[in-house]
Amino acid sequence: MDQGNRQMFPVDVNCGECGTHISELPFQPSGDRPVYCTECLRARRNSRRPMGGGGGGGGMRRERKMYDVDAQCAECGAQITQLPFMPTGDRPVYCASCNAARRAA
Ligand SMILES: [Zn+2]
Ligand SMILES: [Zn+2]
Repeated sequence: MDQGNRQMFPVDVNCGECGTHISELPFQPSGDRPVYCTECLRARRNSRRPMGGGGGGGGMRRERKMYDVDAQCAECGAQITQLPFMPTGDRPVYCASCNAARRAA
């Protein structure tokens, strides 16, 4: 690991997820996208699973990681305390029943 190769840009932003102050980034933020601290970045990366081709096999996935959130269903307004993903804040989230209804529609 040669750290000397990585150029860091001095910035003055807050993590879009946890609000941690970020003083430098390996890239220049464009301003129209949220940036995340190292920890949140890693968490987001880990939560994203590489999906192969299309096609949907049904069935249930056993090891589904749930995130503790404090959100409201954009459809029925129900309180949501857990989601299989971390909401980014710029997309509406739906409760389990609304999700099922939307998927079935
Ligand atoms: Zn963060
Ligand atoms: Zn709902």
